[in-house]
This record gives sequence, structure tokens and C-alpha cells, in this order.
Amino acid sequence: EYAPTRKEDVLAGRRAHFGGNLSLTYNDPVMLMRGWRHHLFDEWGRPYLDAYNNVPHVGHAHPRIHAVAADQLKRVNSNTRYLHPAQTAFADKLLSKLPDHFEVCFFVNSGTEANELALRLARAHTGAKGMVTPDHGYHGNTTGAMSISAYKFKKPGGIGQADWVELIEVADDYRGSFRRDDPDRAQKFADLADSAIQRLQEKGHGIAGFIAETFPSVGGQIIPPKGYLPAVYDKIRAAGGVCIADEVQTGLGRLGEFYFGFEHQGAMPDIVVMGKPIGNGHPLGVLVTTKAIAESFDNGIEFFSTFGGSTLSCRTGKEVLDIVDDEGLQDNARRQGVRLINGLKMLQQKYTCVGDVRGMGLFLGLELVNADGSEATEICSYIKNRMRDHRILIGSEGPKDNILKIRPPLTIEAEDTDMIVEILDSILQEVEAA
Ligand code: PMP
Repeated sequence: EYAPTRKEDVLAGRRAHFGGNLSLTYNDPVMLMRGWRHHLFDEWGRPYLDAYNNVPHVGHAHPRIHAVAADQLKRVNSNTRYLHPAQTAFADKLLSKLPDHFEVCFFVNSGTEANELALRLARAHTGAKGMVTPDHGYHGNTTGAMSISAYKFKKPGGIGQADWVELIEVADDYRGSFRRDDPDRAQKFADLADSAIQRLQEKGHGIAGFIAETFPSVGGQIIPPKGYLPAVYDKIRAAGGVCIADEVQTGLGRLGEFYFGFEHQGAMPDIVVMGKPIGNGHPLGVLVTTKAIAESFDNGIEFFSTFGGSTLSCRTGKEVLDIVDDEGLQDNARRQGVRLINGLKMLQQKYTCVGDVRGMGLFLGLELVNADGSEATEICSYIKNRMRDHRILIGSEGPKDNILKIRPPLTIEAEDTDMIVEILDSILQEVEAA
């Protein structure tokens, strides 16, 4: 297919022609030539279990995605300045999954772009600029999106904190200021927004809004205590701001019980952002919002994205949502999630370095700790790389990179989840023995 296919040659080519801050996962990088459902195949045809990538939401190389994309490319692939029924069909399908007050869709090309647009909508609607956001969040790679992504702007070499941004502690009730033994922890975490709003106001900023990954992922696969988001939203709205739910990682059925993360919280956002899985690999980002906010944004300046909402994108996006329904993938996420969590909890009983097992559906985290309870970054890296040796791909997250992240395509089956637990078990034995 491709020459050369030797990994070493491709690596050398990368080093020669790509920026150094393009990272590679695993000490021994993986080269992937084929995918099928939740399976991947390297240059030797060796299989890997993809237990990490949320982009192939309905599975790698899904024949229905291939068929609609090929069909549309044969016909026409144009933009939103021309009418095509695929655009409205995609919008109708997506809005059918959301509460009634979401009536307007914007189609762009990535999660980053959707968040960048969310910032513009919030500013247009409120006339203000100030944003409140949890620490360690990630919303994208452009200048605006980076400014609300503490995970990036706080790093050495990062752009630093903009004066229109204020951070609040992540609602991590395992390691944060308020723990699971405190029944009022949701409210206590939410109350931290008061001082953030006040700090913005003291700097002369109005409140444009609040943005959060509904379940913080790069912050460490955190499930905020129930009721946290509605309490924060109340405060933001009282200060005049709008509430943005970044559902790039949590939306579209991954959580099993819920189609979107905000449903778990009993929260009602004003803007919902989607990306990654909604195109199953085709670049696609979507923002949905209310009529009122869309009208504030409709101020005489045209909104246009050349590729956003292309005929191809709309047909692909709708097909992804249809496949989730037709194949019962949300329910599969629920069932396999329960099976995985049960297995991981068994490992927690067995090994002291497993400090916490958390998550919902196929959005899972396993926090590794040292004997003194501190973050076990090295153990996490060891396990992630040993899993890769066993050809199971998982990731790691968290401010100290000590949380194993399991986030497979929604097609994963019982025998795959059992294999994850079994191999993890054997690697944890190695850790314990060392
Ligand atoms: N928001 C969240 C929560 C994400 O995880 C990501 C991507 N990791 C983005 C936004 C940015 O999306 P993209 O890479 O498609 O621009």
C-alpha cells in the first residue's frame, strides 16, 4: 500500500519533516495500517485492541460510513451557501437527541472550532468577555480555545492566563478539596465560582460565560458529584453569563445511561459543543444553541466555514448518529461499562496502587497511587506501556498523568473488556512484585 512501510523509516521521516512537539504515544510507537470495529492492525498485520480512541465512535472502518461518504463524493460535496437536504436531515437528527430549547446548529470542522465559536456566541449574547472555567481543562488548539484551556496555557512555554479568564478547582471528589464523605461537596465545589466571578468583575470584566468539559477528561476522568453543574450554571446566569457544555468526549451515548453528560448532572446548558466522535474520523465539529443566542450572534456579519457543514460532513455525521441507534451502541456502552468497572473494582481490592476506579459507560479512569497516596505517575506510565506490549491500547491523563484512561469505540464486546481486566491484572502483579 505504502512504501516504505518500515516503522523506522516513517519515524525518521517524521523527525526530518515534522515539528518536535508532535508527540507519539508509547515508548515503542505503534504504526497502524488497518482498523476494523475496535481492532487495529499494524504494519505486520498484528492485531491491537483499541481501548483508547473515542474518534471511531461506531468503530474503525465502518462499512456504512464508507458507503455514505463514497456515495456523496460521487455526487457532490459543496457548502452551506447552497441548499442540500443532508444539512437539515443532520440537524433534525441531532436536535432530536437534545432538549427542546436547542433549536439552532452550527457546523464546523473540529472541536476546537466549535469552542472558538462558542466563545464568540457567548460574547455576542452577553456583550461581555469574562470566562470562568475549571482548572486543567482542554478545549482546543487555537488562540481563543487555548486561552480557556488551563491544561495548555499554564504549562511552561504556555501563553499564560488571560486576564478575562478565571479558573476554579476541578470538582474532583477523590483528590480535591471536598471528598466523597462530604454530602455537600457538589455545592461546595460550585461555590468556588462565586470568587471567580467576583475576581473577573473586580478586573472590570462582565461575565460572558462558563465553559467546562462536562466530565473533565484531561483533568483525570472526573465525574463531578451530581448537582455540581446546575449549581455553577445558576451562579453564572445570575451574573449574566451563558453556560457552555463541552461534550466532545462525553456526548453521543458514550456514557451508556446518558446520551450527553449534562443529563447526568441535571443541568441545562445554553450551548453544547461536539467534536471528535461525531464524524467518526471525518473532521466535524458541531455547536448547538438556543434561538435567542443564535439571534444575538446574527448581527449582520456572515458566518461561513468553507468545509463546515459540507454535504459530505452532514451525511457522515447523520450516519454516525443513525448507527449509534441502529446498532444499540449506547446500550452496549452501558453494559460493557458496567462489566469493565466491576472488573476494575476487583483489581482495586487486590492491589494497593489502584486508588480509585471511576467513570460511566465507556468513559473510565483508574487512578494509580503510591503507598503514601500521592500520584503514581511512573506506575501509570509503566502500565500503559506494558498494555501496549500486550497490544491493548489505553491512555493516561490527569495533572500528574497517573490516571489510566479507558475510552474505546462503543462497539467493544464482553470478551474484549475481560481481556483488558485480565491483562491489567497481570501487569499490576508485575508492579507489585517490583
Ligand atoms: N474539547 C475537548 C473536551 C477535547 O477532548 C478536544 C480534543 N481532544 C477538543 C475540545 C478539541 O477538539 P479538536 O482536536 O477536534 O479540535
